[in-house]
Amino acid sequence: MIDLRSDTVTKPTETMRQLMAKAAVGDDVYEEDPTVNELEAYAAELLGKEAALFTTSGTQGNQAALLTHTVPGQEVLMDEEAHVFIYEGAAISAFAGVQSRTLPHTGGRISPELLKKSVRSDDIHYPETGLIWLENTHNRGGGTYLPEVYLKEVRKIADEAGVPVHMDGARLFNAAEASGMSAARIASYTDSVQFCLSKGLGAPVGSMLAGSASFIRTARKKRKMLGGGMRQAGVIAAPALHALKEHRALLKHDHGHARLLAKAIQSSTDLTIRHDVQTNIVVADTDTSSLSAEEWVARLEQEGIRIIQYKPEALRFTTNSDVSREEVETVCRKLAEIQ
Ligand SMILES: *Cc1c(COP(=O)(O)O)cnc(C)c1O
Repeated sequence: MIDLRSDTVTKPTETMRQLMAKAAVGDDVYEEDPTVNELEAYAAELLGKEAALFTTSGTQGNQAALLTHTVPGQEVLMDEEAHVFIYEGAAISAFAGVQSRTLPHTGGRISPELLKKSVRSDDIHYPETGLIWLENTHNRGGGTYLPEVYLKEVRKIADEAGVPVHMDGARLFNAAEASGMSAARIASYTDSVQFCLSKGLGAPVGSMLAGSASFIRTARKKRKMLGGGMRQAGVIAAPALHALKEHRALLKHDHGHARLLAKAIQSSTDLTIRHDVQTNIVVADTDTSSLSAEEWVARLEQEGIRIIQYKPEALRFTTNSDVSREEVETVCRKLAEIQ
């Protein structure tokens, strides 16, 4: 099977497996796992933040951030298709007890005028605005990154309002690769950032949350509350550290593969792509197609190709390091045959 369902499907490489077997370990709840400590120090430095925390997943990193930044009863400003709103089982309201204020967006960008207007005044009726939430790259938006001018505007609005900014940077390094900005430069506009090790970077497990030293001290406690206090976690931190050091440079191949796929979709099918293909995600709309989204998924599956139905009338193709150039070319050929 050629698996384009997600960039989470990658399997650990032989090198990663060897690193897991040999990893130096200790009890990480006592902060005594040397491999986890090394990973956290490296991630913090890479993002230009004081400290970082290894979490079991992106969801856990995001939720620990929410628990750290906010208090129950506050409101978080986000775009209406944010992962935290759609795909985290309403943990934001169940655990942090905050309200999601969802705003329209294009590729993850909320108009600065609307964002600014949406910060609540201190009227006694209103919830307090506790946090501004960004997603970069934007998943439902088709893997689009937030440009620096936008990040600057959001930072300015946040500073004027006295509200912190969290970035769900599950695919932060895809954003860095595509925008030409370093991850640290992107992160400089935020108070905290979460990024996934287990997506395009290819590690088997884990995410990182980065921020100030005091933010991470509190987030470490919140992570424990969420059941994320791990013990000899060096065995999963070792492949994660390798992925973070060695696999960032590979993301550009995934991006090239996505552009190739997008070209084939546009030239040889009746599907429509309505977003810029900037990174490793291609969202193709089926409203213009003679086949439904369900039919596309089933036909491709018969050809040994896996994708996901993303919305009632959309498909998502996600390139990843386990899919080679040749396999992408095979997918391009099969797409033309199906039509
Ligand atoms: C995948 C993803 C997450 C969550 O990561 P998990 O490790 O699957 O919990 C959060 N935000 C975005 C934008 C994602 O794509």
